[in-house]
Amino acid sequence: MDDPEVTCAALALGSNLGDRAAILQGAVSALGRTPGIEVLAVSRVVETDPVGGPEQDCYLNAVVLVRTNLAPLQLLDAARAVEQEFGRVREVRWGPRTLDVDVLAIGDVVLETERLTVPHPRAHERGFVLVPWADVDPLAWIPGHGSVTELRDLVGADGVRDSDIVLVTAVDGGR
Ligand code: ATP
Ligand code: MG
Ligand code: MG
Repeated sequence: MDDPEVTCAALALGSNLGDRAAILQGAVSALGRTPGIEVLAVSRVVETDPVGGPEQDCYLNAVVLVRTNLAPLQLLDAARAVEQEFGRVREVRWGPRTLDVDVLAIGDVVLETERLTVPHPRAHERGFVLVPWADVDPLAWIPGHGSVTELRDLVGADGVRDSDIVLVTAVDGGR
């Protein structure tokens, strides 16, 4: 990826339906197989109480750092394609899902369109995003909101627990 337009982006993964750990690992691998996306690092996995929406089971959450030469809307499309691959259906807002892939930030891009808002409008207030994000990229910065590590310390880690699940950047030898 020598394209001068290449940027680093952070993506949030969440799952609370099905084999959550296998789905998160599958999502990392699927992102890595997507043309224009290179997975740089994956956070530790946290188990988190659901926030908002109907009563539902706990989530596994992680944050993935990627390098990409995709435009922001192409990156959203890629995230949606990976959700589809793992059977995501949208029924109830903030309802249970096999896989959620959200675009947290793309370099220092600030963007608000009908389909995509970057940085993600709720990332800065969510422990289930900030804890793994600060883990994988302690110096990360959310344009308009500040340091991810400082925001994590402000928001706290209530309802966010360590898990013993470890995700790897590539399960297929990097092919
Ligand atoms: P939340 O956005 O609060 O995490 P959610 O992830 O459950 O909720 P989805 O159903 O996955 O919401 O997405 C709803 C819509 O949000 C998508 O169709 C997408 O167009 C839009 N969207 C806007 N900004 C973003 C972003 N930064 N990342 C992902 N989706 C976004
Ligand atoms: Mg989400
Ligand atoms: Mg989403």
